[in-house]
Amino acid sequence: MTKFVYDFAEGDKDQKDLLGGKGANLAEMTNLGLPVPPGFTITTEACRAYLAGGHEPEGMAGEVTEHLTALEKTMGKQLGQADDPLLVSVRSGAKFSMPGMMETVLNVGLNDQSVHGLAHQAGDDRFAWDSYRRLVQMFGATVLGIEAEHFAEALDEAKRAKGTKNDLDLDASDLAKLVETFKGVVREHADRDFPQDPREQMDLAVRAVFDSWNSARAAIYRRQERIPADLGTAVSVCSMVFGNLGMDSGTGVAFTRDPASGARGVYGDYLQNAQGEDVVAGIRNTMALTELERIDRSSYDELMSIMATLEHHYRDLCDIEFTIERGKLWMLQTRVGKRTAAAAFTVAIQLVDEGLIDMDEALRRVTGAQLANLMFPRFDRDAAKELLTTGMNASPGAASGTAVFDSPTAVRRAKAGDKVILVRRETTPDDLDGMIAAQGVLTSRGGRTSHAAVVARGMGKTAVCGAEELEVDVRAKRLTLPDGREVVEGDLLSIDGTNGEVYLGEVPVVASPVMSYFSDGFGAPEDDDLVAAVDRIMRHADDGRRLRVRVNADTGEDCATARTFGAEGVGLCRTEHMFLGERRSLVEALVLAETREEREESLAALLPLQIEDFTAIFRAMAGLPVTIRLLDPPLHEFLPDYTDLSVEVAVARERGEVTQEQEDLLVAVRRLHEQNPMLGLRGVRLGIAVPGLFAMQVRAITRAAATLVAEGVEVRPEIMVPLVGTVQELQAVAAEIAQVVAEPESQVGGEPVHHQIGTMIELPRAALVAAQIAEVAQFFSFGTNDLTQTTWGFSRDDVESSFFSNYLDSGIFGVSPFESLDTEGVGELVEIASWRGREVRHDLKLGICGEHGGDPDSVHFFHRAGLDYVSCSPFRIPVARLEAGRAPL
Ligand code: PEP
Ligand code: MG
Repeated sequence: MTKFVYDFAEGDKDQKDLLGGKGANLAEMTNLGLPVPPGFTITTEACRAYLAGGHEPEGMAGEVTEHLTALEKTMGKQLGQADDPLLVSVRSGAKFSMPGMMETVLNVGLNDQSVHGLAHQAGDDRFAWDSYRRLVQMFGATVLGIEAEHFAEALDEAKRAKGTKNDLDLDASDLAKLVETFKGVVREHADRDFPQDPREQMDLAVRAVFDSWNSARAAIYRRQERIPADLGTAVSVCSMVFGNLGMDSGTGVAFTRDPASGARGVYGDYLQNAQGEDVVAGIRNTMALTELERIDRSSYDELMSIMATLEHHYRDLCDIEFTIERGKLWMLQTRVGKRTAAAAFTVAIQLVDEGLIDMDEALRRVTGAQLANLMFPRFDRDAAKELLTTGMNASPGAASGTAVFDSPTAVRRAKAGDKVILVRRETTPDDLDGMIAAQGVLTSRGGRTSHAAVVARGMGKTAVCGAEELEVDVRAKRLTLPDGREVVEGDLLSIDGTNGEVYLGEVPVVASPVMSYFSDGFGAPEDDDLVAAVDRIMRHADDGRRLRVRVNADTGEDCATARTFGAEGVGLCRTEHMFLGERRSLVEALVLAETREEREESLAALLPLQIEDFTAIFRAMAGLPVTIRLLDPPLHEFLPDYTDLSVEVAVARERGEVTQEQEDLLVAVRRLHEQNPMLGLRGVRLGIAVPGLFAMQVRAITRAAATLVAEGVEVRPEIMVPLVGTVQELQAVAAEIAQVVAEPESQVGGEPVHHQIGTMIELPRAALVAAQIAEVAQFFSFGTNDLTQTTWGFSRDDVESSFFSNYLDSGIFGVSPFESLDTEGVGELVEIASWRGREVRHDLKLGICGEHGGDPDSVHFFHRAGLDYVSCSPFRIPVARLEAGRAPL
């Protein structure tokens, strides 16, 4: 029979799938002998069964009873026992941490009787009543779904009646009255009484946690973080310890190293006389953890020693939540800590130098997405700026935009194309979509561990938190400083998440040091820990990767940039990009030419321009392979729009001003107009339809190459034919190429310049008949943009702005197949073509040049599929190199 409940002592850190991150790590800490309050975890499997069937799976209730009884025995008291109650927290915990996205209920087990028992045991009436009112409030809001506002208003009313603004001024009898009021709120809005039966409270809380897996905010978060929607959450039931039992109690969050910069040393926030949620929610401003040393030396020392144990044990930066109850330290949670991109690199290298991990492990612990994040620009230090205030550097980066004070406005303005900075007193999980829409987040409350900070870091979004000087008035959409300066919605703000500074207006940005490192050809300054760490990890990635990394580039300039970034050749030179702008009319004339003379005239005009283009590219890429793709425009990109032209001609006719040239053009455009240009006269089809076009391009390639070879430059051209569906097409073009290559100007010393002929595989048919195609092609390059388009039947130009958002919202896709390769469908075609091609030609070179070439997950797939290289845009090259190095690990 399936086991649904595990005691903390039964699990370990590797059981995150089953026990969730929190449950697995509580188990690990328990087994390490650390002070963890006893408890048990209900598995994600139980949650999945519950969500699928709408009720707890059979056997779960019995197991919960068994584990609860054992817990009661250990603690020597029963859940909700009238004279000395065992209280428990009921917490969510999924495999991947989703901070603040799901529910937690504390103080479960309190009722009208046990509140007196707790008061007696704690010797503190106020504490007991405060705990009870928190339970009714939290239970009402999260389990019974009552608007939190109703409780907040009742609390405000109680304070008004008492003539205070501070919760702490409410005494035991005020709080006892408030409990009655809260129970009334429950009765009124949930149509039932607050449950007095402790077990019923616990069971309902467990259900609420299960249900919260499917809350709207959890779903948004999962989509953002690409967390699968079907994992479910585990539920940890843990005996309560209290950080709100007076000034010798408290609660805190800590990191074993700085999660923002990676600097060594302990970082964290502590709040005296408070319960856990107060710190994370950023409701009260916290003190630095180092203050704890002064307040409670022995707890501090014990905490330091536990943190050292955890770092050694996990061999990584850990974050923890702890509570001190009357001088006794308890560990409530640990996990390998979330960190910024910069910290990921620096910490990995520190751990290597400390002998805790090796370089392979360091490489596993960083990602291409983090590297991309580090290449973002920073604010220009020398630019004139008006400093508004300084807060905590919660998540690095530089962001400018107009100030907005609520999430719906942030979303609306961002949709309209504005860059916005979301300004809040503190953020809650409900602000998630506003945070996603904003360039950056600024809060006046909360520390580095507040919700805003944790979530922003996870998203790689710039954030400054706890800028205490700011008086944020969300209703009035305004922030005010003590000196009277004001920012209202629509004013420009800039925030620096690296040093916590907030500026008025828009501040210019400069390149990041990591970007400079790449663009200077990998010169790592000794004094920059981050750049030095990136340098060591990149070198290790380069040493271990099998995949080569090429660039998609169409100019000598881009090629030169790409080369400094480490490009090992050009994987795709899109020649149609050479005909945009002024040259478009030349192509237009060629396509519309009706006589051979007209056509040859246009081709003759294009030839010298193309020779110039290719010479620049070959020169920049001397010694490296350069794949030049013959012209592949969907025709509509080179001709005037049919509708626009029809209107223009009609108007001109009306005025009696129409020319014969206009009329002729309209006839020609009508003739060539296609309903589906992406499936029309493009790629090799165009090359065959317009005689001489491909020959002209090949001539330009071979002549440019011949001239450079004569100069002593090493040139390695690869001629690539696009959109091939059958080998006959390729044979036709290959014959044409052979003729050009035989021309004396294309030769050096009577020999043709060395070159290869290959094709793109971007149609399912081409993938399937790859064996035939490989008889002619010396290389394949997968055009996964078109291959995705043609495999799915999605128009690549339209879908992202059309129904894709529905598909993403409803979970049909986790991510667009144009962004990350659909390995099951499109990937299968890549594999089929690779096998079939290589069976015929063992040394068939295989590459990919669609957008997926720079996508981390796709790079791992291409490695597994046995490709030789990926090709991507210049700025993605470092990311592709890093991921290609990680792929074999
Ligand atoms: C492709 O289709 O993947 C490709 C690289 O070609 P293009 O994007 O130019 O159609
Ligand atoms: Mg294509």
